[in-house]
Amino acid sequence: MKMLINGEFIDKDDKQNILNPYNGEIIDTVPIANLGDAHYAIESANLAKDSIQNMSAKEVSNALYSACVELEERKDEIAELISLEVGKPYKHAIVEVNRSVETLKLSAEEAKRIYGETVPLDVAGSADEKFYAFTKKIPLGVVGAITPFNFPVNLALHKIAPALAAKNTVIIKPPMEAPISTLKLVEILNKYFPKGVVNAVTGYGSEIGDALVTSPDVDKISFTGSVATGLFISSRARGKKLTLELGGNDPLIVLEDANIEDAVNAAVSGAFSNSGQVCIGVKRIILDNKIADEFIDLFVKETKKLKLGNPLDKSTDLGPVIDESAAINIEETINNAIKDGADLLYGGKRNNCFIEPTILDNVNMSMDVVANETFGPVAPLIRVNGVDEAINVANDSKYGLQAGVFTNNLSNALKCAEEIVAGGVMINKASSFRADNMPFGGFKSSGMGKEGIKYAIEDMCKTKLIAFKHI
Ligand code: NAP
Repeated sequence: MKMLINGEFIDKDDKQNILNPYNGEIIDTVPIANLGDAHYAIESANLAKDSIQNMSAKEVSNALYSACVELEERKDEIAELISLEVGKPYKHAIVEVNRSVETLKLSAEEAKRIYGETVPLDVAGSADEKFYAFTKKIPLGVVGAITPFNFPVNLALHKIAPALAAKNTVIIKPPMEAPISTLKLVEILNKYFPKGVVNAVTGYGSEIGDALVTSPDVDKISFTGSVATGLFISSRARGKKLTLELGGNDPLIVLEDANIEDAVNAAVSGAFSNSGQVCIGVKRIILDNKIADEFIDLFVKETKKLKLGNPLDKSTDLGPVIDESAAINIEETINNAIKDGADLLYGGKRNNCFIEPTILDNVNMSMDVVANETFGPVAPLIRVNGVDEAINVANDSKYGLQAGVFTNNLSNALKCAEEIVAGGVMINKASSFRADNMPFGGFKSSGMGKEGIKYAIEDMCKTKLIAFKHI
């Protein structure tokens, strides 16, 4: 695949092989951009600002709808690409593409609803002075989008589509592990917008990502990825507008009055979908002692049913993780926990890029598997007595992305909803729930700013005040 700058598909002699993590085969290559390419993309995106700002809201909305229709028509092809480059089972890849269609549709709808407000100014003057104002939302200019490998299409769209809806131009730097499906998406969008409005530059984050972050000609960076990279970006962005959607270590709390079967189903899909490589995946399971054994028996039984295999096989539940070095790190985290006293209830083994779904009991809070984000199919179990201890354990983390709580007790549900420090608390759902219109974004080290189309658009605009005095 080629990268896209100023409406042209550009190749380079310098290329990176994109590997299928399932079998190590080369799927395709992408050009490795240099700083000159990044600057060309920034210049093109700046030159294209007028062409999108001169479109009416209806034209922008129609362009997003057209892209949405084409993505829907090509959803099998795009889902297959996601499976190939990420190792995501097809059954989950198609869910990602269906969600992406929805993300585009929501953006097309929101493009027609970017309102300002009237502001009473008589707070500052005398009653007979006719003085009022209105605000207008205007585009920021150029938005730089930097994305991770785990949802390469929908996470890219959560940045590109609201940026376009608000009449910005965009430069996306996709992840070098899995850039192809993002390039296909950009190829679709480019058909419906003037040249230079949507650009994609394939290259390394430390070079191309950094060029976007530090350029005075990029007005905003919308980043999704790890906490370490997010913190580095915020130190380099020098006052630029930033949205940071970072890592999580999300808890699933199961209280004594929970529906155990529902909680187990949520735990299996929340902890092991996409081989645990989900920012809002279930990463710590906190169990009331009164139901812990019953939950664990069923959790192990249901986990044993998961089928590992070729991601393209429609019956596969778990594919490989993104690459072998990630798999080795996850294996080490599991082995260290066992060495420090955790009990392995299921799984634990690595085979190339595959990690078995793994359940660890008797962990403690200082173990890496509990304190940090593992980003693999690993479920540590923590036993507690009652709701207060469950909330304390859930909050004992530098992360605060989302949380899930299973309980049928209204006052415990409300207590958890109020006291858990996280960007979203799901009652009787796992933390891994996300609808593409909802405000989404973490507290503490998990980030700043919100995505979810309407909320992302707010951050992709600046507010201008226009005041009128009758004379
Ligand atoms: P990552 O290593 O932080 O990489 C994310 C992106 O940042 C990649 O495109 C990477 O480029 C780029 N990058 C690296 N260094 C950079 C720099 N100095 N300046 C600018 N860009 C730079 O994250 P990942 O391993 O791909 O993704 C996993 C992480 O993302 C997990 O922590 C997960 O929880 C988090 N995540 C969060 C959300 C959310 O919405 N909160 C959603 C999904 C994932 P390269 O191509 O060179 O790697």
